Amino acid sequence: MAMDAEAIQALDREYVMGTYSRYPIALVRGRGTRVWDAAGKEYLDFLGGIAVNVLGHCHPAVVRAIQAQAETLIHTSNLYYTEPMARLARALAAAGGPGKAFFCNSGAEANEGAFKLARKYHWRRGDRRRVRILSMTYAFHGRTLGALAATPKPEIQEGFGPLPPGFDPVPWGDLEALDRALDETVAAVILEPVQGEGGIHPADPEYLRGVRWLTRERGALLILDEIQCGMGRTGTFFAYQGYGVEPDIVTLAKGLGGGLPIGAILATPEVAAAFQPGDHGSTFGGNPVACAAALATVETILAEGLPARARELGEYFLGRLAELQARYPGVVAAVRGRGLMLGLVCHEADQARAVLAGCHRRGLLANVTAGRVLRLLPPLTVTREEVDAGVAILDGALAEVAGAG
Ligand SMILES: *Cc1c(COP(=O)(O)O)cnc(C)c1O
Repeated sequence: MAMDAEAIQALDREYVMGTYSRYPIALVRGRGTRVWDAAGKEYLDFLGGIAVNVLGHCHPAVVRAIQAQAETLIHTSNLYYTEPMARLARALAAAGGPGKAFFCNSGAEANEGAFKLARKYHWRRGDRRRVRILSMTYAFHGRTLGALAATPKPEIQEGFGPLPPGFDPVPWGDLEALDRALDETVAAVILEPVQGEGGIHPADPEYLRGVRWLTRERGALLILDEIQCGMGRTGTFFAYQGYGVEPDIVTLAKGLGGGLPIGAILATPEVAAAFQPGDHGSTFGGNPVACAAALATVETILAEGLPARARELGEYFLGRLAELQARYPGVVAAVRGRGLMLGLVCHEADQARAVLAGCHRRGLLANVTAGRVLRLLPPLTVTREEVDAGVAILDGALAEVAGAG
């Protein structure tokens, strides 16, 4: 018997920890860009599981891969070889990755592993001073203690100290500040080519190339966190390909599994060699079902040319958002993004929340990040008609907020 939304909410409130301020919507089913709630109401899903549902909901290639693998072998442990993991690692290298992969289960875990890898790399080279990790203001790298230490946001760090030492923020976009901070104690610099949670901030190409040049010159590694902006979303499979920059380490998660939980640390063979047997591990990491889903996701993204599609539709979408900005200048302060990673910035947090509530009522899912940025991360399979339908809903929600203001 299917439960109604009230029953699901009541049960959740009683038994699930209250870490999320959830919207009063219980989702039960999805197909493509659409999801349905417990009452049967249909929504256009322009949040896409926060960049997880890159192929939309229940894409046939992903469903088939999961079904076939689930009937064959669900789990073995990492004491044995499995084909889906080996093939996924090769596919990520072929897609333009740095060459070697380690699989885990989430984004935070991928970043934790990347920090460990960077430190061990310098340690094995006999450089015991290089232990510090520099991250950027407004960055988001996850909720585990190390990833949290690299996420310089007081609201989410508060009350969890002491955080691990050796993590320091530098101002995002400021090459001179990085120049001053990059001394011989720095193991790695981590940044998101397009900041997600921080409010959809694409790196300036000159800046990212400058960071690459500086880190190389000073002997520090460059870790790119592509957990949100990777997987074709910004117009190239890896966002860094669109910037012409080659990182030492890349982290992926979110969209990698097409909906299943999986994360990856990718590194050049030279850096990856710092991890020797026993140095790192994960019981579930690289689980055959998750890897089979991820392989189907990567193959579909490449076979269907979805990165180029994300670039084209993203430009179209951004143009339509700019029209909304022109129509509602009292609500919309800015629109920005890269590919299908878009933000509509309101003047006030209250406005952003009201616009989102209006979207929910009209059947469009998105979210608000960094206080006043309405974030749009539709599946890369979204159609132009669906973009238009989403823009029409946004238009209605904005008109309502502009009228009330
Ligand atoms: C979501 C996210 C993470 C954390 O991923 P989890 O799977 O939630 O641990 C890290 N970095 C970026 C850029 C993210 O968007």
